[in-house]
Amino acid sequence: MKRHRLILALALISAVVSMASPASAQDKGSVSPKPLPPLANPNDPNVAAKELFGRKPLPAKLAPQPIGFYAKGCIAGAVALPINGPAWQVMRLSRNRNWGHPDLIALLERVATKAQKTAGWPGLLVGDMSQPRGGPMLTGHASHQIGLDADIWLTPMPNRQLSREEREETSAVMMVRKDRLDIDSATWTPTHLPVIRAAAQEPQVERIFVNAAIKKALCREANGDRSWLSKVRPMYGHDYHFHIRMKCPPGSTNCEAQPPPNNGEGCSTGDLAYWFSDAVLHPKPPVKPPKPKPPMTLANLPAECRQVLMAP
Ligand SMILES: [Zn+2]
Repeated sequence: MKRHRLILALALISAVVSMASPASAQDKGSVSPKPLPPLANPNDPNVAAKELFGRKPLPAKLAPQPIGFYAKGCIAGAVALPINGPAWQVMRLSRNRNWGHPDLIALLERVATKAQKTAGWPGLLVGDMSQPRGGPMLTGHASHQIGLDADIWLTPMPNRQLSREEREETSAVMMVRKDRLDIDSATWTPTHLPVIRAAAQEPQVERIFVNAAIKKALCREANGDRSWLSKVRPMYGHDYHFHIRMKCPPGSTNCEAQPPPNNGEGCSTGDLAYWFSDAVLHPKPPVKPPKPKPPMTLANLPAECRQVLMAP
């Protein structure tokens, strides 16, 4: 009985911890975030890499270079996306995640301008990119580690500059219907497709991640050239935002490429069946709570990430 209660308590704790960690578009921030306390033993080889990278407020002063894989790496010489641009604004400034490879910054500027022109949006709201030195994060995201990933809200930028508070407090808008089988026609509009298409048509974009219901809607609505649909892949989450992943920039020899998606549109019932299966739509809680995975340490990341962390 006692043991039972302990297991229940552990399950509850892990549920609360995992609820506290998503840091997705709908999670709010604070204009005056509490600074993280210094680590007692930063040189302990067992210290989680996210604790080290999460404490670096500025990029490594090195030549720009993504190192490792999207979900296991870091970035040297990252630059910040300006928080206000002609066609975008950065959200959740307290997270300090508007950093990336210079090619990603240039790409986002292009996509934002294109979205403004083709969708008639005043601009894009940009969510999480990478930390100043990339690496694993204390909250949310397995990827976003090498300065080549960016989350874009599926909510148009308003036609004015948002305050610091609004950037922390405003919620992104849910695009998926309650039954999760399709988009919510109360929030999804004909302007969403041209925004996502603008990103997918960029040659340097490797993949776009969206919820499966959004992929289904894009398949239904796309006219003319549909080849860009092959890059748009269903993914868990991404009900409120879409995710742009860039290819490794030319010449970045320490960047580990992802195999390109196959050329199919990915629009058939068969292609989407897994995502609309009962197991995915209504996942059963595991009988035994899964053992938490030990966090990634610095030794698990490419060796160059140690220099990135130590660099001025
Ligand atoms: Zn994402």
